[in-house]
Amino acid sequence: MGRELTFSYHILQHGWNGYLRMLDINYKTSYICPLCQEAPEFLIMDGITMGTIKELPNTVEEYLEDQRLSFVPLSNRVLVSDLQTRKLIKSYYSFGLGESEFHTMVNSLEFEEITEYIIYANNVIDEVNVINPTYPNAKAIMELFSRSEPISGIFPVSILSECEKKAIASLSCGNQIDTCLLYEIFEKMHTLRLFLSSFGEVQEQCATSTGFTLHPILAGVLRAILSKIELLNNYREGRKTVEASPSNDTLDKYFPAITKRYRLPMYEDDNEEKYKGCTKIYPKHQRLSPGLLVVVCRHKVCYGFQILRSKESTTTVFNLLLTLFKKPPRIIIYDNACNLHNTCIIREPKLFKDTTFLVDRFHWKNHCCNPAYSLKSVKSHDFMRINSQVCEQLFSTLRRITTQVSFMRIENIFYNVRYFLYCLNEQELRKLKC
Ligand SMILES: [Zn+2]
Ligand SMILES: [Zn+2]
Repeated sequence: MGRELTFSYHILQHGWNGYLRMLDINYKTSYICPLCQEAPEFLIMDGITMGTIKELPNTVEEYLEDQRLSFVPLSNRVLVSDLQTRKLIKSYYSFGLGESEFHTMVNSLEFEEITEYIIYANNVIDEVNVINPTYPNAKAIMELFSRSEPISGIFPVSILSECEKKAIASLSCGNQIDTCLLYEIFEKMHTLRLFLSSFGEVQEQCATSTGFTLHPILAGVLRAILSKIELLNNYREGRKTVEASPSNDTLDKYFPAITKRYRLPMYEDDNEEKYKGCTKIYPKHQRLSPGLLVVVCRHKVCYGFQILRSKESTTTVFNLLLTLFKKPPRIIIYDNACNLHNTCIIREPKLFKDTTFLVDRFHWKNHCCNPAYSLKSVKSHDFMRINSQVCEQLFSTLRRITTQVSFMRIENIFYNVRYFLYCLNEQELRKLKC
């Protein structure tokens, strides 16, 4: 028997990393979906935690030097502008208010329509503050008035088609709409269903065989909501789309197939009433660790990846969206979608007016924000398929490399992740060609 030829793990590792660097692969043609091209309509993002990177490079971004934009104040993004009034509404539906506090609350509401709703609902609340069972969701609607998430996130009209948007507008003006169409809208918009059921039997009386009209008080509240969203949508012109240098990919950011890049605007510091956001529950170590963010389209083709300084850096994700796309995707599905939505709305409300932000089923359990952000709340077939097929498969695939990349140096993470995602893409692209 001859001598066994062995080599150390270190040599194997060295050999593999060297091999990855020498591969002659055209990544540009692999990192793009033939159906979605450079502008995917659905963008699904997921991050994995990597605990040990010390030498994270700084992303080199190109800014628009002449543009310094202000943030949208919190009062302009929420339905009830005044913080004190929002607090009073919260106390009101949680444990009731004294007579004078109740008057302060209704007098400081900026929309008469909301005052009318609260006064009407108040008549059906008995002395021990139990809401009449005919109005099961009245508390839920009042909770909506007291929230500080952007109104366009709680009431995501962006998810509707143009025809459905028109139907909602018509409903708010007291007109009748087709009942089938209304049920299609319900499939997509959890809040509207909740909203209508808040008046229970009263509202049911408005449904006839020919169509459906909204109870005048609810129509008023819907009008108030839509007018606030409209204000936000027309807040100011978005960033100027000035192209950046063709290739500024660094080790922490890789999107080889997207050829056009855009410069980032500069924003003034935010020094207004702080938005608390959704305080998602994370295991402690994840909060501080950087993560690897992977971006795929609805056909599971990966467009690239970005290394985040912290798992919560929604500004980095916002910058990524602005740099890569002239017009943001229509649907963004992301673990931290609620906070990302807020980051986008603060900076570019008009640009993101047609984008809906959703949290997938897998990550939703960690959230305490409004259920309108949950992908689970959208019942239409297309979204349910994405939830069960694309999101879950992406997460389980990414979990397979978490341990390995956690112990690598930044260059090796780059080359290994790039090759791993390339192999996955080739599989998906073959399926798409069949
Ligand atoms: Zn695609
Ligand atoms: Zn949330």
